[in-house]
Amino acid sequence: MIKKLPWKINSLRVRLTAWYIFLLALTLTLFSSYLYIQLEKSLLAQLDTNLQLTSTQTVTNLINSNGHLAFRKTVDSQAMTQHLLEAGFAIRLIDEKGQILDGLGRYEAIPITLPIQTSFSNLKTSTTTWRVYSQILPDTNNKGEWLQVAESLEPIYEASEHLLTLMVLGFPLVLVIAEFGGLFLADRALRPIERIIRTAGSIGVNDFTQRIGYQGSTDEVRRLAKTLDRMLDRLQLGFEHERRFTADAAHELRTPLTVIKGRIGVTLSRPRTVEEYEQTLQNLEQETDRLIRLTHGLLFLARLDLRSMHPTLLQPVDLSNLLSTLVEQMQPLASTQHIQIIAQISPQLFIRGNADYLTNLFLNLIDNALKYTPSGGTVTVKATQKYQVVEVQVQDTGAGIEAKHLPFLFDRFYRVEEARTRRTGGAGLGLAIANEITRLHNGKLTVESQVNQGTTFSFTVTSHQSPVTSVFS
Ligand code: ATP
Ligand code: MG
Repeated sequence: MIKKLPWKINSLRVRLTAWYIFLLALTLTLFSSYLYIQLEKSLLAQLDTNLQLTSTQTVTNLINSNGHLAFRKTVDSQAMTQHLLEAGFAIRLIDEKGQILDGLGRYEAIPITLPIQTSFSNLKTSTTTWRVYSQILPDTNNKGEWLQVAESLEPIYEASEHLLTLMVLGFPLVLVIAEFGGLFLADRALRPIERIIRTAGSIGVNDFTQRIGYQGSTDEVRRLAKTLDRMLDRLQLGFEHERRFTADAAHELRTPLTVIKGRIGVTLSRPRTVEEYEQTLQNLEQETDRLIRLTHGLLFLARLDLRSMHPTLLQPVDLSNLLSTLVEQMQPLASTQHIQIIAQISPQLFIRGNADYLTNLFLNLIDNALKYTPSGGTVTVKATQKYQVVEVQVQDTGAGIEAKHLPFLFDRFYRVEEARTRRTGGAGLGLAIANEITRLHNGKLTVESQVNQGTTFSFTVTSHQSPVTSVFS
């Protein structure tokens, strides 16, 4: 049976270590080869220098005996000669025919070759290789006698071999130690990632409250952990927003349904006259209208949520025309409430947008202004352009909104006063829808309000040059 390995073969730590070992082995091989070559070179250079020095020294110890050169045999020179021989040198004198005239040390073991000029050469025998320095003797130029100083290359070969053995034996050891070190380091470096994986794995579908909360050094791992934590923050926010929205929506739907059920129950509790049934049905119709409005609003918002404005939905829109028509349509409603509605709309205001959505937006603002302004008040719809920015303002002289409510006004289902909204029957979705539509147009929707004086909603958006003006300008 295959035993389970402590690390998966394809895990990052194993791959990292493998790469580390491979690079280390490569570096060691290159470095050792360089070292090996350099060692041999420098030992050889040193040997050559020694041969040359010895040769120069020996020349001073030569005497002329019977018409030929020979080594001086004084006490001093013999001591020096002894010293050279102990150091492993072999020295000889040869004539132009290769005849040995005199010699010191193991000179007979070196094969005879006649040199052409003062130089170094390698001479091989069955047991060793000799490094030989041949020097033509200055005062015997005519005869062509040579002084040869030699030393075996064996010690150099041995030193190189020794180094090679050390490398061959040491390499695997170094690599094994490095492997454990590499695994240990990789393990340490990747431990925080393991923690991140565990935490991320334990985060449930419905629970985004957990965080990785990594506290280590400010490295890439910490950045990763922080990024994940921020992502979880956003997910949690979105999730809670969704949950609140669903709970609010359910609540909003339940209220009219409870009212409907209550009315039906009361009506059916005893026999009723036709007029009473009619009255009940009228009440039910009102509540059903409310339900329909609410579901329409919710559906509209859900659709807007899903969508960022598709380019095909963006068309040049004549805002002046759109607003004038809207004000005209709202006129009858305003008059029934005894509210004056005034339009101050500059001509030729063009923006890029969606006419249906924009109608919905301004309808919501004008509807609110009419709803929250008592009779005798005024609602003004202004539209102007400053440079590239088009601004639409819906102003009323109504009750106004307290400053504490303003930050939440564009939240879904937010209403300032329950009692007042009950009376007017709003669901608190109008401004949320208006805000979403503004977002889709890359615009800005703001509100200013003074209690008992009135409220102004301002919508700003970048203008779009009209096709007509571009033709004639
Ligand atoms: P819906 O528009 O969904 O029918 P609604 O009008 O109550 O309901 P929003 O249009 O979102 O909801 O408005 C939110 C709240 O802001 C309102 O309930 C109201 O209290 C307050 N509000 C909005 N416009 C004005 C205004 N012009 N003057 C005073 N209060 C306003
Ligand atoms: Mg409204």
